[in-house]
Amino acid sequence: MLLFTPGPTPVPQNVRNAMSDETMHHRTPEFEAIFENTRKHLFKLFKTDEVVMIASSGTGAMEAAVINLCKNTLLSVNSGKFGERFGKIATAHGLKNIEIKNEWNTPVSVEAVVNAVKANADIDAIAVQISESAGGLRHPVEEIAKAVKAINPKIMIIADGITAVGVEPIAVNHIDCLIAGSQKALMLPPGLAILGLSNAAIETIGSGVGYYLNLASEIKKQKQNTTAYTAATTLIIGLLEVLETVEADGGIENLYAQTAKRADAVSSALEAIGLHIYPSTPAKSMSTIDDENAAEIRNLLKTDFEVNVAGGQDHLKGKIFRINQMGLISNYEMAWVVNAVELCLAKLGRRAYDGTANKIFNEITFGIGK
Ligand SMILES: *Cc1c(COP(=O)(O)O)cnc(C)c1O
Repeated sequence: MLLFTPGPTPVPQNVRNAMSDETMHHRTPEFEAIFENTRKHLFKLFKTDEVVMIASSGTGAMEAAVINLCKNTLLSVNSGKFGERFGKIATAHGLKNIEIKNEWNTPVSVEAVVNAVKANADIDAIAVQISESAGGLRHPVEEIAKAVKAINPKIMIIADGITAVGVEPIAVNHIDCLIAGSQKALMLPPGLAILGLSNAAIETIGSGVGYYLNLASEIKKQKQNTTAYTAATTLIIGLLEVLETVEADGGIENLYAQTAKRADAVSSALEAIGLHIYPSTPAKSMSTIDDENAAEIRNLLKTDFEVNVAGGQDHLKGKIFRINQMGLISNYEMAWVVNAVELCLAKLGRRAYDGTANKIFNEITFGIGK
C-alpha cells in the first residue's frame, strides 16, 4: 500500500536504518554532537534566530508557542481544524481568543487581520497556519506578519508550519515563531516538534510559562546542545539523517522546486480528468479535491489500487480527498497515484479511461511537449 496521506508520511529506508541502532544515552558527548549537528541543519532550514526541539506531537509545539508568547489575547485564524485548535489552546489556558473564521477552502485576508488588530488593542499574538491541512489551503502568512508588525511590532506572530517547513521557502523576517512537526514534511515517525524563534520572541518569552513546555528552560539547555528533559534521541538521530539526505539530494531548494513542480503536475493531471481543486489558494503540501464521489474514490484507491490518501474531517467527511506532496516522493509513485484516480473515475462510470492523468503528469514532470 502506498502511503499518500498528508501526515503521517513515509519514512525513507535509510532514515529507518539510522534509527535502528542501540539506544544512546542522551547525556553523553556522542549524543550532544548529534544534537549540535542537527541544530546546525535546523538553523539552515528555519532561518530563525533560535531553534528548539521538543518531544511532543505538533500540537505540543502549538501549545508551547501560545502559552509562552501570548499573555493576554490571541487572534486566531480558523479556516480549518488546525486553526481552530489554536483558539482552543488559548481558552484552555484562560487566555482570550478572538477568531477570524472562514470556510475551509478560503484563506484569511490580510485586511481582515489588520482590521481585527486595529479594533482590539489587547491582541498580543496572532496564530495562523501557513498551510492549513484541513482543506489544503495556503494562508498569506508572510504578508499578514509584515502588515501586523507595521502596526505594532510587539505583536507576536505564531506561524504553524507543520505542513509548510520543508515544503516551500518561508520568509521568516516578520515571523516570531515557526512550528514544524516530525511526521509531515520531515518524513519521520510522530513525536518530535520543532520551534524556530525570533530574538523578539525570546525577549517576550522571558523566564517562560508552564513547566514541560516552558520555552525559556529549553532555549537555555539547547544552546548547550542538550535538552531540559530526556531528549527524543531516536527521532533526533532520524531527523539528522533526513536533513543530511535532503542536503545530499541537491539541498533544500531542490526539494522545494521538486515539490512545487509535482504539486503543479498533480493538480493539472487531476483537473484534466474533470476533478476540482478544493481550496482557492492551494498549499504545496497536498492536493485537495472536493468531489461528490470523494468517499468512493478514496475507498477504491485503497481496495483496488493500493493507494492510501486522506479524506476530510467534520463537515468535509466524505466530501474531499487529500493527496500528500510532502517529502521525498518518487515520480513513478505519483504517476501511479494520478493514474489510479483516473481508473477510479472509470470504475464509477464517470469517464472512459484514456490515460489522460498519467499523460499530463508525465508531460509536466519530464518536460515533454504535447
Ligand atoms: C498535523 C497538523 C497539526 C497537528 O499536529 P499533531 O502532530 O497531530 O499534534 C497542526 N497543524 C497542522 C497544519 C497540521 O497539519
